[in-house]
Amino acid sequence: DPHAETIEFQAEARQLLQLMIHSIYSTKDVFLRELISNASDALDKLRLASYQDKDLQVDTSDLHIDLGIDPAARTLTVADNGIGMSREEVVSLIGTIAKSGTGELLAKLRDARAAGAGSEEASAELIGQFGVGFYSSFMVADRVSMVTRKAGSATGVRWESTGEGTYTVIDVEDAPQGTAVTLHLKPADAEDSLHDFADPATIRRTVKRYSDFITWPIRLLTPPAEETATAESADETPNEPETINSRQALWARPQSEVSDEEYAEFYRHVSHDWREPLETIRLAAEGTFEYQALLFLPSQAPMDLFYRDASRGVQLYVKRVFIMDDCEALVPEYLRFVKGVVDAHDLSLNISREILQQDRQIQLIRKRLVKKVLSTVKSMQENEPEKYATFWSELGRAVKEGLLSDQDNQEAILQICSFPSTHDTEKPTTLADYLARMPDGQDAIYYATGDSRSALEHSPHMEAFRAKGYEVLLLTDQIDELWVDAVPAFEDKPFTSITRGEVDLGGEDVAEDVKQDFESLLGWMTTELSEEVKAVRLSHRLTSSAVCLVGEPGDMTPTLEKMFRAMGQ
Ligand code: ADP
Ligand code: MG
Repeated sequence: DPHAETIEFQAEARQLLQLMIHSIYSTKDVFLRELISNASDALDKLRLASYQDKDLQVDTSDLHIDLGIDPAARTLTVADNGIGMSREEVVSLIGTIAKSGTGELLAKLRDARAAGAGSEEASAELIGQFGVGFYSSFMVADRVSMVTRKAGSATGVRWESTGEGTYTVIDVEDAPQGTAVTLHLKPADAEDSLHDFADPATIRRTVKRYSDFITWPIRLLTPPAEETATAESADETPNEPETINSRQALWARPQSEVSDEEYAEFYRHVSHDWREPLETIRLAAEGTFEYQALLFLPSQAPMDLFYRDASRGVQLYVKRVFIMDDCEALVPEYLRFVKGVVDAHDLSLNISREILQQDRQIQLIRKRLVKKVLSTVKSMQENEPEKYATFWSELGRAVKEGLLSDQDNQEAILQICSFPSTHDTEKPTTLADYLARMPDGQDAIYYATGDSRSALEHSPHMEAFRAKGYEVLLLTDQIDELWVDAVPAFEDKPFTSITRGEVDLGGEDVAEDVKQDFESLLGWMTTELSEEVKAVRLSHRLTSSAVCLVGEPGDMTPTLEKMFRAMGQ
């Protein structure tokens, strides 16, 4: 019983497929990059599994990716002899989308559609942001079939779909090791021979462009030339497979020889982000404890930046051999958007995630990566202010978490922070610039925390500062509530809330006769309000409002109180 089934795509998967089928995406050739990327991952995983499980019956002597073209049938097959998928995996990995943020993406797409004009560009942009992996096959094919067999299993499975609503799965007995995806290509556009994917020249060019750095051989299989086929001595043996990628690990090549375009493609491969990286960072160490790293900062915040289950970390290699994805031990949580590769030369290939966390070498590498990322952002801030501004507006919220979690680098993190302030309504300020503008007599960095800039600007607490000409940082991110309590000062200037305690604005004390005039009023108010407030005081803080509430030094700010209440504490 081959156990044939027809199954419906999950709703979100169905919507994404519709987008692919009707895609107006001009760069349809990226589908090949996606399939090769999956094949390469599958080979990495198989090699690793064979190291870790000596009983696994697999052949790893000739791992490769084959691209087979049949111009007559108009098919293109991308085949790997990697890890493969079980039937359950095919259904869960290919039939559904488990990525965080899919719902939001689709909602945005619907909004873009509803908005009418320009919506096609908006959808293309959103597809680009999301990356659609396997489904991108449907940009060029009207039917896709896949035969796969999981390493160690005897039975394979065949999956097939036109991308319209349902797919079929059926067991197959004689499936080769790995996965073969066959695209039944849409009719070629006579006007556009550059995008005919049944043409070997197109495939060669596309692989060179997007996948040259893949370290596994990518081989082109072309059918026998027609002359041979029709000649007397015609034999049906296909041409020798031809390896069409250079297979050089980018991080092992001299920096000056790698083009931005090559870095960008590699970034797409490791990050699953379709955009260009904002910044490429390379570092290396030689000697007893040798490693190379190639890291990227994204140009936009990843969709899952603030999801609990977000993936984090870079790929770990040991002497060019892939060891694991998402190696958390190499990157602290507040830098979870950093993607890339670390190739360490002296680690065991069998190292586990648990052991990695404690490995001294890994800890040292991590330390250096963090410092390098922070110093790269610092020099961006100095030399490429626009790039820095993009970085900060996209990723600053995550970086600020480091003020709490990474004591050792607190100073370096403060250096690269910028905050909205009363100095400029548009442009946030760095702390160094804030200090430079401080008038004589001001000896603290003043800040206000709250929900929105405008609420803070209109707060009565602000009046005295405005009158005095003191700049105030306007902190509206939730994380701000937390770090301001954890970070004492920047360059010896304490962070001081404008709502807390008796902020010393350098004015004289309230004159004795004024105090006497108000004594009975204050006494009466303190009694009347004893349930609500600890004390009622005269103050210089206010210039036009009659009263404002202040906290004791060390009290929670109102927003923090609200946060805790919302969390039920
Ligand atoms: P992504 O690669 O971003 O996870 P894809 O849509 O490209 O998304 O692929 C979905 C999943 O299907 C992959 O994560 C992988 O687990 C599985 N998969 C796809 N292609 C292959 C393949 N050639 N071999 C093994 N597994 C694969
Ligand atoms: Mg993929």
